Amino acid sequence: MSVRILEVSKDVPIRNRIGMFTLRAYLIAEGPHVDTHLAIFKGPLTNPVPVRINSACLTGEVFGDRRCDCAWQMWEALRRFEDRGQGVMTYHPSHEGRGIGLFQKIRSYELMDERGLTTREAFQELGETPDVRSYASATAILQDLGVREAQLLSNNPEKIKALSDSGIAVIGSERVVMDFDKSLVGYLQSKAAQFGHLIELPTFMLGVPMTEDVAFWPQPTGVHDDDTSHKPTKTATATGA
Ligand SMILES: [Zn+2]
Repeated sequence: MSVRILEVSKDVPIRNRIGMFTLRAYLIAEGPHVDTHLAIFKGPLTNPVPVRINSACLTGEVFGDRRCDCAWQMWEALRRFEDRGQGVMTYHPSHEGRGIGLFQKIRSYELMDERGLTTREAFQELGETPDVRSYASATAILQDLGVREAQLLSNNPEKIKALSDSGIAVIGSERVVMDFDKSLVGYLQSKAAQFGHLIELPTFMLGVPMTEDVAFWPQPTGVHDDDTSHKPTKTATATGA
């Protein structure tokens, strides 16, 4: 599919809880689709550049939903850029829900919660391809910023392949995996088993029984719940604040 950068914004400064970054917006045509894509970076950039390709996740990044690790990975990447004095994150609003869009993503949550489906099964139930993301806009942005060699912050082999295919040398890839959080076990196992992400879960995590309640809605010990309908519970946990 042909990729064309149609327009590039001026750079604007971003100050957040990690530090100072620069934000640049790109209007990019991928075949018939025209979308806004962003680059948030810290420079000056010297090859090899730490790179993260970040799909938008409104539920995690804006509302703080803890069923996925997207927000954690985004902030962790910016933290590593800050530590190293440089790095580029491409950010893709159109990649919400692995590209199926926000509405369908939220419908997939409904299926996961009510019927215990995995992400892949829920997407299939909705008639969606489990991962429709193209990384062509990401590589176009990286090339525009002069990235020729990348130290990729990702667990996703598809992203490594996309960079290599575009002529950007991946001189290393770093895992971005969150510390143990019981509520994420099912999600991370599904990413590893069904999407091929390079996540090596500690064996004690793999030993956690896979029920929907454990996977997504951790409950304080001592709470007995006979309800097997897997509805979200409103119980607070010590770490829930
Ligand atoms: Zn997410």
